[in-house]
Amino acid sequence: MEYLSVTKAQQCVLESVVVLGAESVKLEHSLGRVLAEDVRANRDLPPYDVSSMDGYALRSADLKNVPATLAIIEDIRAGDMPDKTVQAGQCARIMTGAPVPQGADAVIRVEDTQTSSDSSVQINAAVKPGNDIRLRGEGMRNGEVVLRAGTEITPGVTGVLATVKCAQLQVYRRPRVAILSTGNELEDMDEPVDPNKIPNSNSYALMAQVQALGIGPDLLGIARDDPAELEEYLQRGLRFDVLLVSGGTSVGVHDYVRPIVESLGVQMKFWRVAMKPGHPVAFGITAHTRFFGLPGNPVSSMVCFEEFVAPALRRMMGHARLYRRTIAARLTHNVKHQPGRTEFVRVTLAKEQGGYAATSTGAQGSGMLLSMARADGLMVVPADSTGVAAGSMVTVQLLDGTVFQDDAGFRE
Ligand code: AMP
Ligand code: MG
Repeated sequence: MEYLSVTKAQQCVLESVVVLGAESVKLEHSLGRVLAEDVRANRDLPPYDVSSMDGYALRSADLKNVPATLAIIEDIRAGDMPDKTVQAGQCARIMTGAPVPQGADAVIRVEDTQTSSDSSVQINAAVKPGNDIRLRGEGMRNGEVVLRAGTEITPGVTGVLATVKCAQLQVYRRPRVAILSTGNELEDMDEPVDPNKIPNSNSYALMAQVQALGIGPDLLGIARDDPAELEEYLQRGLRFDVLLVSGGTSVGVHDYVRPIVESLGVQMKFWRVAMKPGHPVAFGITAHTRFFGLPGNPVSSMVCFEEFVAPALRRMMGHARLYRRTIAARLTHNVKHQPGRTEFVRVTLAKEQGGYAATSTGAQGSGMLLSMARADGLMVVPADSTGVAAGSMVTVQLLDGTVFQDDAGFRE
């Protein structure tokens, strides 16, 4: 099999995942989820013409010559219902959000007035009809769709849902994700420190990456490089919507993961991608499960998660924007590159005049997890590049944040 480009591999993954079904959640538990139904307004808002200022409701025609003195006929607070009609030469004191009384066609803010008594006010400026009035239904109209299915629930969306009194809503289900690490050399969190072993960091880094997308994964632990034990663990993992396996997908004689998942019914879509770090990464499907065989090297595992798993999980949850945000940045030093594979260099970003400066986090070995821990983003070096000179503008994929974009946003 050929090496796939990152873009082709991303396409292949996305063609193989579908949006999951819907479930009902309470508004207070819906942040970050995606609406699975259209939501309509259940009333006009504002329900009547209201003042957008603290001031006086009046007839704009009374202000042909200013200053003008008007008689105050009543005091209208938000929540009050005015019962008097404003006649020529009259006005009503009005608060923000209070209904505009009959007869008045404008509001003047208190700052443009002067009061000498409780019964009259001097108006110092002229206003046009409609001034500082928010019209009935200006915010939303009864029956209109205010939020479409597919909308991500941000705090602003939560406000709109509360406005239309949507206490319970339909959102797309989150995938059930299992994480399995493999390798005889691994030592788990609860085991005593053995200087000859390698601490299992991948299960936890992947767990955090999954959690960052709003999903609580299941950790299946560590399977030894033993076909019988692996088969048992993999069988369990294949009951989930998504199975992430770290390690054992390479071509070493003890890399059993691929043949075993195939024997368990996984149809492999790819297992070679022209990227660095990241090789070897495998992807396959069954009727119900998406299987990702991630490289054991800790940085590779995390980078492959970002490029392939994160967009897939977001699609399953109904998001339209699947990819991490990219920005342009100025590279502060030379970066060497051999043509062949797309490289993801871990960088920090610093704000500078006119944009951002990107600087490598240091040694970039695929086992050097600190390079990832320090990174703000992944600088993408196109596969055909022969190196990037200091001062060049580069594309950096951000590793953090809740705002995503429509496409991968980089050239390979
Ligand atoms: P593999 O892909 O199984 O050949 O593993 C490649 C390298 O990644 C080896 O040096 C492993 O020790 C390391 N590695 C594999 N799994 C993990 C893990 N769960 N946590 C940390 N390092 C790992
Ligand atoms: Mg291994």
